[in-house]
Amino acid sequence: MIPNAVSYRLTNVRLHASVAPGLAAVFDADGFALADIAVADGRISGITAHARTGAAADAVDLGGRIVLPCFVDCHTHIDKGHIWPRKPNPDGTFMGALNAAGADRVARWSAEDLARRMDFSLRSAYAHGTRALRTHLDSVAPQEEISWPVFEAMRETWCGRIDLQGACLLGIEGVRDKNWFDRLAKRVAAAKGVLGVVTYMVPDLEELLDQVFAQAIKHGLDLDFHADETDDIAAVSLKKIAEAALWNGFEGNILVGHCCSLARQPDLEVLDTLDKVAKAGLAVVSLPMCNLYLQDRRGNGTTPRWRGVTLLHEMKARGIPVAVASDNTRDPFYAYGDLDMLEVYRMATRILHLDHPVADWPRAVTATPAKVMRLDGIGTLAAGGDADFILFKGRSWTELLSRPESDRIVVRGGRAIDRQLPDYAELDELMVG
Ligand SMILES: [Zn+2]
Repeated sequence: MIPNAVSYRLTNVRLHASVAPGLAAVFDADGFALADIAVADGRISGITAHARTGAAADAVDLGGRIVLPCFVDCHTHIDKGHIWPRKPNPDGTFMGALNAAGADRVARWSAEDLARRMDFSLRSAYAHGTRALRTHLDSVAPQEEISWPVFEAMRETWCGRIDLQGACLLGIEGVRDKNWFDRLAKRVAAAKGVLGVVTYMVPDLEELLDQVFAQAIKHGLDLDFHADETDDIAAVSLKKIAEAALWNGFEGNILVGHCCSLARQPDLEVLDTLDKVAKAGLAVVSLPMCNLYLQDRRGNGTTPRWRGVTLLHEMKARGIPVAVASDNTRDPFYAYGDLDMLEVYRMATRILHLDHPVADWPRAVTATPAKVMRLDGIGTLAAGGDADFILFKGRSWTELLSRPESDRIVVRGGRAIDRQLPDYAELDELMVG
């Protein structure tokens, strides 16, 4: 369906206003317009409103199918990915996940083990249509010395297919060891990474956050936090991060993930936090699938009554950049998942009500995370940009989000890629013992 040619035209494609900024066309109530895309030398040479007559001989009529830009997945853990068969979560709880993943890391995360699982994850992400991906890397000593070199090699191997970013991951208490944290920040900077920590309510949280900001400023690093992944309404580290960003005058990008407890807090508390988050210029990523799995798991034959996600609508209404992302895949934090951002968007639509209207929510898996990750020209479809897009069967939101779209066509640099997914059996020997 995609011509194996240097230049061609795709006509009668359905583009969404939120991801096709330069398209001058009449958009329908769902935000769609029919368009024609010209591709030349691996780039998009033009996007115009669909001309119903006079199609060129080299044009392919796509019958109104939806085309989206390739995805940007700004919060993943490909160092943990796919360990489930050898280290399942015993009870599906957050503590169960933390303990199981920690034990597996200490016992099994050699460079080879990491490299093989990370490559497996990236092949899946690529096949599903992901163009850029940020992964957190457990950086509790001595793991940082193993994981960061593997990450750097992986980024090199995948250069041109997936733009890979790394953020270190450690509990905020790890920052108390100032010398070690200084060394870690230096290591992260050397790898052109992002400084990341997990925040929760420790007595010296403000002091520790100041140290995190000081290191980020010293090394010119962006920040990425896991915050308040709990239903405990006393967890307000999102607000503390915003306050610390303001009083440290931080000018880099800050992405904060999870923020689950915010959805449980009283309105006045929420409003105060959102004011500060907006003022400090924080971006927020929700991880709907992982939150649905871990949050409100009460055990003892009870049913969850809360979806676990944070207040994305209220944030977006205030101009806070918001994204959704994969988070964990087939590890103790989430037993499922395959880094398929269409699945994430489909689930997010259902869990977070990203519909009626869809508005510009498609940006949450494309342009917005690209901006947070400082990736220019990625996450939108525009003349002059790379011809990196996904062609779906669906011609409307209900068609697109009702089926897995396993037969989607992923185009990179103007060519349809081989979308073969890696076989689970490849990892069997890493799962023994
Ligand atoms: Zn995470």
